[in-house]
This record gives sequence, C-alpha cells and structure tokens, in this order.
Amino acid sequence: MNRHHYDLIVIGGGSGGLAVAETAAQLGRSVTLIEGSKIGGTCVNNGCVPKKIMWYAANIAHAVDDAADFGIEAQRGRTDWEQLLSAREGFIGNINEYWAGYVASSGIDRINGYASFADASTIAVNGRQYSADHIVIATGGTPIVPPIPGAELGITSDGFFAMREQPRRVGIIGGGYIGVELSGVLRALGSDVTLVAMEDRILERFDPMISETLENEMRKQGIDIHTRFQVGALSGVAGDISLESSCGKTLAGFDTVIWAVGRRGNAQGLNLEAAGIELQPGGIIAVDRYENTDIEGIYAIGDITGKAALTPVAIAAGRKLAARLFGNAPQSKVDYENIPSVVFSHPPVGTVGLGEDEARQRYGDSLVTVYKSSFTPMRHALATHGVTTAMKLVCVGQQEKVVGIHLIGDGADEMLQGFAVAVKMGATKADFDSTIAIHPTSSEELVTMKIAQQSVAVQVEPGNDVEWREAS
Ligand SMILES: Cc1cc2nc3c(=O)[nH]c(=O)nc-3n(C[C@H](O)[C@H](O)[C@H](O)COP(=O)(O)OP(=O)(O)OC[C@H]3O[C@@H](n4cnc5c(N)ncnc54)[C@H](O)[C@@H]3O)c2cc1C
Repeated sequence: MNRHHYDLIVIGGGSGGLAVAETAAQLGRSVTLIEGSKIGGTCVNNGCVPKKIMWYAANIAHAVDDAADFGIEAQRGRTDWEQLLSAREGFIGNINEYWAGYVASSGIDRINGYASFADASTIAVNGRQYSADHIVIATGGTPIVPPIPGAELGITSDGFFAMREQPRRVGIIGGGYIGVELSGVLRALGSDVTLVAMEDRILERFDPMISETLENEMRKQGIDIHTRFQVGALSGVAGDISLESSCGKTLAGFDTVIWAVGRRGNAQGLNLEAAGIELQPGGIIAVDRYENTDIEGIYAIGDITGKAALTPVAIAAGRKLAARLFGNAPQSKVDYENIPSVVFSHPPVGTVGLGEDEARQRYGDSLVTVYKSSFTPMRHALATHGVTTAMKLVCVGQQEKVVGIHLIGDGADEMLQGFAVAVKMGATKADFDSTIAIHPTSSEELVTMKIAQQSVAVQVEPGNDVEWREAS
C-alpha cells in the first residue's frame, strides 16, 4: 500500500511506538510506523532483554558456585562468551521477527528510516513526505557520555551488548541501575570489576537500606566499589585505560571502561523546530499528563518525555494515548503514581512507592511507621556464599497505609508485582497481616513483620520444618 496521509504516524518502533501503533490499528485507524534501526527498540535490542539473559547467565554461574554446598559436584570453567552471545542474539532475532510479522499482519505500514519533521503535520523520511492527523514521537533515549578528556576510550551499555569477547578487567562508571546490573553480571561471569560512582552511595535514588545491602553484597562478590569518585578524565590507550578522578585519584589497568552515567532523550535529527516543538534540557520533549506536546496533534511517549524510563511505562502510555485519540476514551491516561521497578542486580532489588526518607519528609516523622527485616533465606542458609535479604515496609497514618515497599534479595524481582497491586489498591499493614503467609518463602516475611523495629531473622532449620527466629 502506498498511502501518504494517515490517521497516525509513529516515529520510533520501540516499546512505546509499537504499543501506540498496535492499539490504533486495532481500533481501525490507518497507521505508519517509522523505525530507523531494529524493530523492538532499546528494550529488545540493547536493554531489558539482552540484560536479563546476561543476568540469568550470572545466576547460573552463582548456582554452580554453590552447588557443592548442596552435595552436587559441579565446577565452573571459562565462560563461553561467544556461545552466550549467539544464544542471546538468536533469542532477540526471534523477537525482531515476531514484531516485524505482527506489524505487517496488523495492517500497519512500516518504513525503515530516520524520520524528521517537515512541518507540524508532515514527516520526511527516505526522501519522501507523509502527513497525518496525529503524530507520536517515541524515539526513546541514548546513553550519555560526558564531554571529558579521553571519554571516547569508554563504551556504553550499547557497546557492552556488542562486545564479542568477555573483558578481563572492567571499570564501570556510574552507580545507577545499569552500572550495578552490568557489574554484577560481569563479576559473576569471571571479569574483575571496579565500579565508581560520584554519589555517596550506589543506587542513590533508592531507599538507603537497598544501597547499603547491595553494596555489601557486591563487595562480598569481589567487586571493587569507589563512591564519591567523580571521573574527570580517561587516559591511556585502548586495552589499558585509567580512570582519573577530579580530586586526583587514579585507577589504572582496565581493558574495558563502560559509561553508565544516565541517558538523555533521543531527539537527534527530528528537526523539531519545523514542528514548533522546543527541546528541553536532557533532550526531553515536555508533555502534559495526557502526553500532549505544546503543539496540537503532536504527542510524545516513553523515554523521550523524561518520565519514568521503563518499558511497561512506555507501553502503557502508548496504549492509553491510542485509546484516548481513537477509542472514545477522552480521559485515558497513565497513572504515574506507585510504579514498581526492579533492578536486576545480584541480588535483585524491587521497589514501589515512597522511600522511608521521602515518606518522613512528606508526612512527618510522627505519621510514619517503618517495618524492617533482614535475614538469610533458605537458599543461602546452606551455602558458603550466603546472601542477605532485606525488606522494608513504609506505612503512613493511624491506618498504617502501606506507601512504600523496598526489597533486596533472591526473588525480589518476582515478588514485587503482586505486592505493587496491593499498594496501588491502598492496602494497610493490617491487610498484609491478615493475609496467610506462604511457607517457606522469603515473601512470607512481608506479611509477618511484627514490630516497627529492625528484626533480624535467621533461618535455623532448613528442611520441611523451617522456623524463623528473631535475633538481635
Ligand atoms: C541497559 C538497559 C537496561 C534496561 N533494562 C530495563 C528493564 O529491565 N526493565 C524496563 O522496564 N526497562 C529497562 N530499560 C529501559 C527501557 O529499555 C526503555 O524504558 C524503553 O525501551 C523505552 O521505550 P521507548 O519506546 O520510549 O524507546 P525505545 O525503546 O528506545 O525506542 C525508540 C526507537 O526509536 C527509534 N528512533 C529514534 N529516532 C528515530 C527517528 N528519528 N526515526 C525513526 N526511528 C527513530 C530508535 O531506533 C528506537 O528503536 C533498560 C534500558 C537500558 C539501556
């Protein structure tokens, strides 16, 4: 089909773009989707999916390390990086194919190329012009590399996923979620890892209990962590790189350095001026609660908006927007409150709602009750490489409404989703308490927390009759 005017043009075939295009097509609208690179966007090609495969590989490596403690003979050899990569790429190739087939079979026109605005209702791509009643910008984000001397000696998370060989000694710059995730994976697979962060603690935006527990666990795994280390320059040559801090410290001898210092909106080449859209600092396109830009008929969703940069958020924004524009649902919009998120560190982190400090600032100390627990789960009670699990519930008011849940430990990634539903529904501590625990699990701790004091539970009797005893 060779149409030139559509109900909807979507720029970017990632999480958000595919969602809005799919929903609009399902609602019977004519849609074209313009994607300059691989379909699926960051999540599929350079983000969640390849990252999670590497995380699984790291988990398996940890399991082999613990096998002897359970009487199972197993020994780790070298990681076959090439095999891991080709399995990963095969999996991702299947997802790319799925989406390509799905788009074609949904009646969505797909254009391979980079789009730019000719005017507020016209898009130029591959030397042709297409117009639409509605245009959605879903061009995602791109990793930041700061303009410092030698910065080009480092790679980004995109470069990490393209690496054909496992690095031997890696310096990772950035204590955010991508930095800690890549550190955990590389260390588990056998690389020497140094992580530097300019903040006082890693995962600075998370509840301090999470940062402290994770930092301890990462150090136990042999990851060298330097906080308050602001990189001022990279020096040396490829294969032998040094990190120089702004206050004169040097860490040397890295064959690979990875920048993980955040991402900026990807508005490159969009020629937004032609549409009358002003770009915000950080490459962000400002939108209101309904994802409207300042220009009528132009919307932005996903990472480019600077809102919560997560795949399910971009997908929800795409679906809600299409429902609003084409599905007779004028109030349809994303609720950005209480978005659960997981960090695939080792061990993983799950968090939803307010941190303890945030709750105290918002409601005042007298209204906030905090329940904490820290214990060694059964999986690690036998193992020499014991891993701590820590949990915190942040409650507010006399009713003790649960406004924050913070978890770190095995299973936290899968545990959080259901509890996030409870938080979204306004559950109280009493609702948690009245739910019968599932035993023996780590998650049972969340419905059995007793006093607003730190309790340290230690699993004393592995086996069928597991008991938890309070220890000081
Ligand atoms: C290392 C890493 C790990 C992550 N892990 C997770 C995770 O575990 N869970 C999670 O929820 N989120 C994760 N994310 C974040 C997640 O990937 C993003 O939030 C999500 O992909 C955003 O979707 P989007 O639609 O906004 O943009 P994207 O998915 O980035 O898609 C944008 C698309 O637009 C295309 N494009 C850009 N400019 C143009 C143009 N001018 N013309 C045509 N096409 C264009 C790009 O090629 C790209 O395909 C991770 C990100 C990274 C980098």
